[in-house]
Amino acid sequence: MTATPPTDALLAFDREHVWHPYTSMTDPTPVRMVTGAAGVRLCLDDGSELIDAMSSWWAAIHGYGHPAMEAAVRSVDFAHVMFGGLTHAPAIRLAQRLVEITPADLERVFLADSGSVSVEVALKMALQWQRGGGRPERTRMLTVRGGYHGDTFGAMSVCDPDGGMHTMWSGVLAQQVFAPRPPGPGGDVQAWADDFAAVAAEHAHELAAIIVEPVLQGAGGMWIYDDACLRVMREVADEHGLLLIFDEIATGFGRTGTLFAGEAADVVPDIMCLGKALTGGYLSLAAVVCTDRVARGISGSESGVLMHGPTFMGNALACTVALASLDLLVAHDWSAQVAGLHAGLVGGLAPCHDLPGVADVRTIGGVGVVQLDHDVDVVAATEAAASYGVWLRPFRDLVYTMPPYVCTEQDVARICGAVAAAVEVA
Ligand SMILES: *Cc1c(COP(=O)(O)O)cnc(C)c1O
Repeated sequence: MTATPPTDALLAFDREHVWHPYTSMTDPTPVRMVTGAAGVRLCLDDGSELIDAMSSWWAAIHGYGHPAMEAAVRSVDFAHVMFGGLTHAPAIRLAQRLVEITPADLERVFLADSGSVSVEVALKMALQWQRGGGRPERTRMLTVRGGYHGDTFGAMSVCDPDGGMHTMWSGVLAQQVFAPRPPGPGGDVQAWADDFAAVAAEHAHELAAIIVEPVLQGAGGMWIYDDACLRVMREVADEHGLLLIFDEIATGFGRTGTLFAGEAADVVPDIMCLGKALTGGYLSLAAVVCTDRVARGISGSESGVLMHGPTFMGNALACTVALASLDLLVAHDWSAQVAGLHAGLVGGLAPCHDLPGVADVRTIGGVGVVQLDHDVDVVAATEAAASYGVWLRPFRDLVYTMPPYVCTEQDVARICGAVAAAVEVA
């Protein structure tokens, strides 16, 4: 084994050669060196520990190094085999579980390798379904402003057109149709519904599907909206022959308080995308689950097959870990865990209402958001949270947290204190 170079040398190479998310290569923002992760804490090279208030971007819901997850990693007979022409128990069992836990009509499963790819697959399904039904001219997507669906080109085209860097990509991205952002809980759903229905009616002849994040829009601005809007989307989709796609990559697996966010309004989509917490933060894996009606329609398109097949489709290691994570959700009583997080966040973030520069404080399930009236000084805010013993990663005008489900009351209280400390310097 080669000796690991000293931290300074590693960080120097990182700075010169390694891209980080949404970061300049020539003028990168500072990074911290993680040397371990256990429970809800990240261990840094300077010996300090930070509570991971981000769950590694929604994913690490059971924290780090849970014995059941570690055992799953070690249990596999093989890590990966191609999925073309071959199959295996881990993929089949995961598909079975997803069919069981998602709404009854969702019963056909495509295993993809990342969230963005699953969105591409969902969009492609919608296009092929329309073609199969003899409507090849229906190629555009209807969505709402404020959304985020990933960083690949199809996914980017349905991200919020202002926040999603559309101006930078004008002429490159597919031109989708945008309706206004849905109102917050208790807002004027009827007025929004009228607008949404009007946009849909105007473009129906060219629309293939509606795609949204149900109830909580994540990286597009952490917007929570009235779940009655989901029923409007379902009605509009049915009226105009559109498929309804719910991107539950961030919201799925209990984060908003129901196992899937669409359940809050009892609305079943035609296609659902899952990712992020699917493997409890261990490995990249995503799934697209659709109805039999969608699957049959696609089979009726000219090719007769769904034209997608990632190299790492159905990765056995990832599927095995996902099954262990789903077992833990049940064993841990995720619903009680998320309710506990919610109570802690509501109480703990209440004092933020009175801090200068705060525009809004909002919570849903295990998510807490403080929106400022200005963009966050990310470096200063991160530093303030770290000196409080907490890892936060604010963006735009938002300081927010979605803690691991296994956080204790004390952990959540500390996280809320760190959010306040970050807001004060942001
Ligand atoms: C993170 C996210 C994606 C993209 O997933 P990746 O695994 O990063 O490609 C898509 N949709 C939503 C709602 C997300 O939060």
